Amino acid sequence: MQKSDILQAWKGILAGRRPSLSIEVTRECPLRCPGCYAYEPAHLGGLVTLRELNDSKGDDLVTGVLRLVDFHKPLHLSLVGGDPLVRYRELEKLMPHLVERGIFVQVVTSAFRQIPTAWKDMPRVKVVVSIDGLREDHDERRKPATYDRILKNIAGQRITIHSTITGQMMKRPGYLEEFIAFWAERPEIEKIWMSMFTPQRGAEAPEILTQEERRRAVEEMMMLRRSFPNLEMHDSTLKQFLSPPSNPDDCIFAKTTHTISADFKTKITPCQFGGDPDCSQCGCMASMALGAVGEYRVGGLIPVKALFQASFAVGRLFEKEMPEAEGASQPDVKTRAEAA
Ligand code: SF4
Ligand code: SF4
Repeated sequence: MQKSDILQAWKGILAGRRPSLSIEVTRECPLRCPGCYAYEPAHLGGLVTLRELNDSKGDDLVTGVLRLVDFHKPLHLSLVGGDPLVRYRELEKLMPHLVERGIFVQVVTSAFRQIPTAWKDMPRVKVVVSIDGLREDHDERRKPATYDRILKNIAGQRITIHSTITGQMMKRPGYLEEFIAFWAERPEIEKIWMSMFTPQRGAEAPEILTQEERRRAVEEMMMLRRSFPNLEMHDSTLKQFLSPPSNPDDCIFAKTTHTISADFKTKITPCQFGGDPDCSQCGCMASMALGAVGEYRVGGLIPVKALFQASFAVGRLFEKEMPEAEGASQPDVKTRAEAA
């Protein structure tokens, strides 16, 4: 993040705006990944699940996203899902409008289908492909978006890989190096980002890392980024994994990002995970990267985090809700039969 980005974000916060917007553009996904938080029963607060929301298609999706963007005026927009490429025709229509607005756009996908070639040359557009570990594990967890299919669908592109480190991976010595070495050398891969699995509070799952595994993952990545420069995990970000925010109020990422689900109304809180995430075990790379930015001292004195916290309080006075007619309150829900 550049100093100019921090200043722009700060100005927006003071005006009651959040610099980042994340939209679940569709409730659909052809994958059924174990550990996927988007389809957890508590993701949207427990009254309704993502699969039960009424989502949009065609021009309704395009105008729905643009309406949110024009209201919230983010500097950075993430299009997530489900899998946004389920609605690739709509996204192809939408992308030039977003580019025109000068915002950074990130599409997060499993690459189960080909990434539109035109996106490669669009300014400020980034495609992030999620990979769940080495081929044998990934193919099992993320079929039909297998390694072979991803490699075919990203050919000729410039993409970022994002992977979530799990407890299972850290139980096998050398796993991270093997994974990063495989992807780092491919011509399509611009950057590699790594998160760690973030559980809900009280959850038990093999994906959860022990404290020792978390520490080892950090140490290994600090070493690996010296051999693989496109592993974009700075030491300052990596150190944050060892002391994550204590709660959502302490998390710059959660406080600077609006996350809205597929009916374009339902807010996901406290962050993209929804439900009741265990901040003390947070492994979200974006939260850690912003945590590192928060430690930067403006003029060598005041930490950015202190400046942001004071500004959030001021911005709250100016924060506006999206008008009811354009969607802001009750989730738009499908009947159970429609959702099945
Ligand atoms: S691709 Fe993403 S949204 Fe779809 S099931 Fe997997 S983790 Fe969930
Ligand atoms: S991103 Fe992590 S630290 Fe921030 S609110 Fe969510 S779980 Fe907590």
